[in-house]
Amino acid sequence: MKYDVVVVGAGIAGPIVARNVAREGYSVLLIDKKPAIGAPKQCAEGITINVFKNYDIPYDKRFINREIYGAKLYSPSGYELEMRYKDVSGVILERKVFDKMLAFYAARAGADVLVRTEALDVIRENGRIKGIKAKHEGKPIEIYAEVIVAADGVESTIARKAGINTYTPPHEFDSAYEYEMLIEGFDPDLIHLWFGNEIAPRGYVWVFPKDEDRANVGIGINSDNPKTAKYYLDKWLKENNIPAKKLLEINVGLVPVGGFVKELAKDNVVVVGDAARQVNPMHGGGMAEAMKAGTIASKWIVKALEEENLELLKNYTKEWWEKDGKRLERVLKVRKAVEKLTDEDLDVFIQVLSGADAEKIAGGDYTEVIKALLKNPKVLMSKRRIALLKELL
Ligand SMILES: Cc1cc2nc3c(=O)[nH]c(=O)nc-3n(C[C@H](O)[C@H](O)[C@H](O)COP(=O)(O)OP(=O)(O)OC[C@H]3O[C@@H](n4cnc5c(N)ncnc54)[C@H](O)[C@@H]3O)c2cc1C
Repeated sequence: MKYDVVVVGAGIAGPIVARNVAREGYSVLLIDKKPAIGAPKQCAEGITINVFKNYDIPYDKRFINREIYGAKLYSPSGYELEMRYKDVSGVILERKVFDKMLAFYAARAGADVLVRTEALDVIRENGRIKGIKAKHEGKPIEIYAEVIVAADGVESTIARKAGINTYTPPHEFDSAYEYEMLIEGFDPDLIHLWFGNEIAPRGYVWVFPKDEDRANVGIGINSDNPKTAKYYLDKWLKENNIPAKKLLEINVGLVPVGGFVKELAKDNVVVVGDAARQVNPMHGGGMAEAMKAGTIASKWIVKALEEENLELLKNYTKEWWEKDGKRLERVLKVRKAVEKLTDEDLDVFIQVLSGADAEKIAGGDYTEVIKALLKNPKVLMSKRRIALLKELL
């Protein structure tokens, strides 16, 4: 088999790259080891509304479970901060349909798609990478390509086999555990997030409604914690008298929350999405970041093929780091400061912020935070908190 581009992984990043490159008339093969694209999901399925317009994805009700109008945050002692908007701010997807449709859009744009096809290694000839070795329905196959895209998710192997350094220390991953379950009593128009060092160390518990009484209920914690994410989630459910008896799915996974890959393209191989650790380290959302990076990567793949100059692929590394890498490193710095907050700090900050204009804060307007703090000078009477605030702002 020979293609201009082979894309390994049909999650989010892979199909975006495959679609964009195929649209420009190049031959593309998109492969995934799963027998059915999108299943099982490893996701809470929440995404901002902007992605549909920004990445040219149809707003198709077949993969939108529920429209969301904001978020509600809960402090360790139960103080609440509600951010409710007039318009839809995000959606809870059905990833089993969404991922499959993204691959379908790639196929419609001209890409070939093969499922149950697992990339095993790269093919090297005379010191150059010429393609990949894979297993299709159990049989070995060889796929030759000018460009190889490693979009194979958090456990990515292909970039590493191609010599790209994707090593991330264990501390830079969160462990996530989630039930899709029947759950009642939460406003189904909002996502709900609970914070606290005893509730979810370094992370949070989430309820992302898919229905009036069905939601993804999950947790993310630091992966080097001696206790498991399941332990903390089950404890939270019990303490809140939420019966976990109507479970429709259990999903587990690792979320990279740091360790962004420095070199995103080497020779004719590019790495994108979770494989490149392109995830927002504050909340662990990676779908929008995968789409962003996939868009930049596909632009440079097309240019490199047009000009028959694979050196141009290096511009993907440059552009991503300038546009998004620097931004995510700033977010990581803020997250590391947030990690130091005690439960008492979290209680105080959520109380203080509940009096502020939450819509502006959500939009990144930190002057609102300062205004709210000045209205509550007691918060600033601790040297430690002032030092933390300096790190945060
Ligand atoms: C529990 C949990 C909840 C999450 N919730 C959210 C959320 O609400 N919102 C959000 O934005 N993000 C969320 N994330 C993160 C999000 O799921 C990922 O960031 C996103 O899926 C990354 O997309 P990707 O295309 O890089 O990788 P993936 O979606 O992981 O896709 C990689 C694909 O590659 C395939 N693959 C792997 N190896 C091979 C191989 N050797 N050969 C062929 N195919 C291969 C896999 O089968 C898979 O289909 C969550 C993650 C977890 C674990």
